Amino acid sequence: MEYRYLGNSGLMVSALSLGGWVTYGGQVSPEIAQKCMKAAFDLGINFFDTAEVYAGGQCEIDMGVAIRKFGWARSDLVISTKLFWGGKGRNERGLSRKHIIEGTDACLKRLQLDYVDLLYAHRPDPDTPMEEIVRAFNHVINQGKAFYWGTSEWSAQQITEAHAVAGRLNLIAPLMEQPQYNMFHRDRVEKEYLPLFKNYKMGATIWSPLASGLLSGKYNEGIPGDSRLALQDNAVMKRLRDALDTDDGRVKITKVKKLANIAEQLGCTTSQLALAWCLKNPNVSSVITGASKPSQLEENVKALGIVPLLTEEIMASLEDILANKPAL
Ligand code: NDP
Repeated sequence: MEYRYLGNSGLMVSALSLGGWVTYGGQVSPEIAQKCMKAAFDLGINFFDTAEVYAGGQCEIDMGVAIRKFGWARSDLVISTKLFWGGKGRNERGLSRKHIIEGTDACLKRLQLDYVDLLYAHRPDPDTPMEEIVRAFNHVINQGKAFYWGTSEWSAQQITEAHAVAGRLNLIAPLMEQPQYNMFHRDRVEKEYLPLFKNYKMGATIWSPLASGLLSGKYNEGIPGDSRLALQDNAVMKRLRDALDTDDGRVKITKVKKLANIAEQLGCTTSQLALAWCLKNPNVSSVITGASKPSQLEENVKALGIVPLLTEEIMASLEDILANKPAL
């Protein structure tokens, strides 16, 4: 395993990490979640990601049970969770000081932890003043309930504002962003955030590196019954399923089939190629992968060995297939 500094901090996170969205607390049993987390840890993954909203809190509960069961040293783990959608009550969502403080306590209870290492604002909250948000995250950090705070899917403008407020008040600024980044979703990380990486040395822990599995090639000939896109009662998965059956979806599948040829040339799987492509970006601190089976993790960590094979020539061939490089 390779470990990278998380942005402008002294914290090291595994270059590949494991998240629980859709899968833990929902799609698979607690026993499978435990097997996946154990496989991940044994493969050198130290960073595990969840959120208060995942499976209505059950993801945090299942991941917390696994952490406790295996008795891992707390110092060997980097645990993150995210706040924004905590419940149906008026003050159980958003980034008010009240929800940040109460939401953090609820997350810690579900995770059975005294603190998380990383705490994210899961989305921007235009209805709460930035000063309130920055002060509330600082309060939680000062209480020892989180070590660092960050953002997820905030615009560069919003993150810059948070830095300006923190600078003016001499408070801790967000350290890392959690954006979507994969071969089909590039603009933010490769263009919009460039000033953040340069000016603040922000870290990036990126999500859906396989575009929910699409980039593994598993959807090339339809939707396998045991895949996440087959989940019937999940609105996001329904949207992704429907999106496959559009012109854009068909173009993506054609591209994935072409990527498979390059993967074969490199002696790896399409998943490994897609993950290695994310890992090659020096602004990426950690690639958060998801897994419904330990075997997927065993396959995915081998992507680290593929990164050196991504020569300029191979990258150029990939750009020809993807045809979506953001214009700078
Ligand atoms: P991926 O794009 O890597 O998708 C993961 C899914 O793809 C797995 O659950 C599995 O689904 C399938 N898969 C993984 N590896 C393989 C393989 N080798 N071969 C075939 N199929 C494979 O990541 P996620 O979308 O899960 O995102 C990762 C994490 O990022 C989340 O768990 C969460 O922690 C975080 N996240 C954050 C968001 C945010 O707003 N901040 C939003 C979304 C995610 P299956 O086997 O069921 O088909």
